[in-house]
Amino acid sequence: MENLPVPGTRTKELLKRDEAVVSASYPRAYPFMMDHGRGCEVWDVDGNRFIDFASGIAVCSTGHCHPVVVNAIKSQLDKFLHISSDFYHPKWIEFSERVASTAPFSEPAKVFLGNSGTEAVEAAIKLARIHSGRQQFIGFHGAFHGRTMGSLAFTASKPVYRRGFMPLMNGVSHAPFPNPYRPILNDTGSDYGETVVDYIEKVLFQYVVPADDCAAVLVEPIQGEGGYVVPPAGFFPALRKLCDKYGILLIVDEVQSGVGRTGKMWAVENWDVEPDIVCFAKGIASGMPLGGILARESVMDWPTGAHGNTFGGNPVSCSAGIATLDLVENNLMTNASEIGTYVKDALEEIQVRHPSIGDVRGIGLMIGVEFVSDKESREPSPEIRNTVEEEAFRSGLITLGCGKNTLRLAPPLVLNRAQADEALAIIEHAVTFAEEELLT
Ligand code: PLP
Repeated sequence: MENLPVPGTRTKELLKRDEAVVSASYPRAYPFMMDHGRGCEVWDVDGNRFIDFASGIAVCSTGHCHPVVVNAIKSQLDKFLHISSDFYHPKWIEFSERVASTAPFSEPAKVFLGNSGTEAVEAAIKLARIHSGRQQFIGFHGAFHGRTMGSLAFTASKPVYRRGFMPLMNGVSHAPFPNPYRPILNDTGSDYGETVVDYIEKVLFQYVVPADDCAAVLVEPIQGEGGYVVPPAGFFPALRKLCDKYGILLIVDEVQSGVGRTGKMWAVENWDVEPDIVCFAKGIASGMPLGGILARESVMDWPTGAHGNTFGGNPVSCSAGIATLDLVENNLMTNASEIGTYVKDALEEIQVRHPSIGDVRGIGLMIGVEFVSDKESREPSPEIRNTVEEEAFRSGLITLGCGKNTLRLAPPLVLNRAQADEALAIIEHAVTFAEEELLT
């Protein structure tokens, strides 16, 4: 497989300008300098073409520049760009109705809109406190919920996100996330998800958080940044039961896992469990900034003025969101499920041929490949993961890491068989390359 000439000359020039002026806090993966994109393909400023298996961190759900989304944006651009949340407009109402109609609970839903994932999480935790009159929360090790002071108090996927920023919002206690490949609690013989819920009740509620002062549990249905970790089948049903027992709200952060990516509109639906609040952002508007929460009508009972923002309900973002929901509900969700199964099955076959692939997991088009230095000890190998990611880039495939040693595959939901096959061939080539470099 031939390597692309990356980074090219134009990229190198721009990298120098970027370094001089852009905040160094952004964790850039490798020097991909985007010029344009269509569907699942992207081109850099030097004319190199790549298959995109990152989608701007699961944002470009309908692919790059889907004509239906672009047309919806263009027609709104000719009308008005902004009016503020002091007034009303039809696209805000229409988008809210559409999102509310997807609510994964039986009660009617109400919707609050912001611009990002972290704002969605901030809204959810504020709503949980004011609605319940309780102060404390349960979060999970490995979780990522954003980087503002409230959401950061829950984020626990890497120390770098927190170092130097203490004190954060208080009242958050963390439990282990049920990672079936790397369980850290003793095996009690039951489903490991149930074991974790048991730990929350018998340890956290016993020693740290009075259950009757716990406002909510905040959890990703599938951990994203933490390593694309899928919990065992018993976890969500047991968690719902625990919340019901103590009158605690269940907030699911669907910022990365939602909007059809797992073949269901919301990933939590894979376990037939009804949450109380859903956080969404990323893929909801195909790349336009839009995030928010949907909550049970009986829960979103905060008074006028309790929470708001300037840009919430932006008409251009709402138009993109309506078009995105049209496409996702029409056939992209089904495509995500079908092609996702195809990609995961193919990766499991590749895993058999490669000693460094410890685990392949995921649902739909949210797939993680975890690299180890040997399958027996399961010793994590960030070096192999990083080499695979870089060699994939040089070979024409955009991917991103997650967790310590996992490759995240989150292509647009419009992925077709030919593109999947091209990407799979590059992944196997990159794994072979990394193993030759690092395992022999
Ligand atoms: N929640 C989850 C599950 C995420 O994956 C992310 C971002 O990666 C966020 C929240 C924060 O979103 P944003 O970066 O838009 O603030």
